[in-house]
Amino acid sequence: MRPPCNDSGMPELPEVETIRRQLVARLPGDPIVAAWSHPSPKFADAPLAIGSSIVELDRRGKYLIARLDDGRDLIVHLGMTGSLAVHPQAVTPTDADPHLRASWTFGSGPQLRFRDVRRFGRIAVTERDDHRSLPTLATLGPEPLGPGFTGEHLHRALALSSRAVKTQLLSQRPVAGVGNIYADEALWAARVHPASTQVTRPQAERLASMIRHVLSEGLDHVGTTLRDYVDGNGERGGHQLHLSCYGRGGEPCERCGQPLVRGVLDGRTTTWCSSCQRRPRRRT
Ligand SMILES: [Zn+2]
Repeated sequence: MRPPCNDSGMPELPEVETIRRQLVARLPGDPIVAAWSHPSPKFADAPLAIGSSIVELDRRGKYLIARLDDGRDLIVHLGMTGSLAVHPQAVTPTDADPHLRASWTFGSGPQLRFRDVRRFGRIAVTERDDHRSLPTLATLGPEPLGPGFTGEHLHRALALSSRAVKTQLLSQRPVAGVGNIYADEALWAARVHPASTQVTRPQAERLASMIRHVLSEGLDHVGTTLRDYVDGNGERGGHQLHLSCYGRGGEPCERCGQPLVRGVLDGRTTTWCSSCQRRPRRRT
């Protein structure tokens, strides 16, 4: 399975959740009998899973967490270009493509392969829920589509830092799984300026609601396009996502008609409407 890509190529929550759902149906339940990893230390943990079976596949933010039957976790972060797929038959790494970073072969024959062209991905085997070796995962905020994520939570979490609201969202701390695309979309939908350093309670309520909305829509779209792709009808998933703001700098805002502004905020390309998303005046 090719990764379902949104148009930045970077998997965000909807893409990773879609991969998880696809893999759940295909992962064998029997033990891993062989494994290989690329020499980079980022992938070196892969063989530690030999001898274990995968009993469940969870997702936290943009991390996939395979629960092993011996009480450990096999964690995969897809980075920018990573993809995971189950193949019916094992290949030896030397026969495989040059972008293969890890593989796990099950006793019944199939092989799970991790491919990552740009090598921003990561593999770790840890004790169950002991994620100290992965600081971003260890400090991850609540799941945006779960019950722990509310406007009240977001308001409190954003107040802990004086950084721009978009930068905070991308840190994964106030909430898990929001990347550049869905951050721009949710901020636009909630009419919150991405550089705001003070977010009011009503703004936080709107923003939390819009984060849930854009991610749910993304999940529906990615799931649909991926099914099309698997059926052989489609191009890469996600290009059909309807985006109101991200990547539309210079085009008229769908709400007010003013041209959307494209700029850089803390090193990330950012698009917003300077008319609908007013930057609040700092309190003196
Ligand atoms: Zn506007």
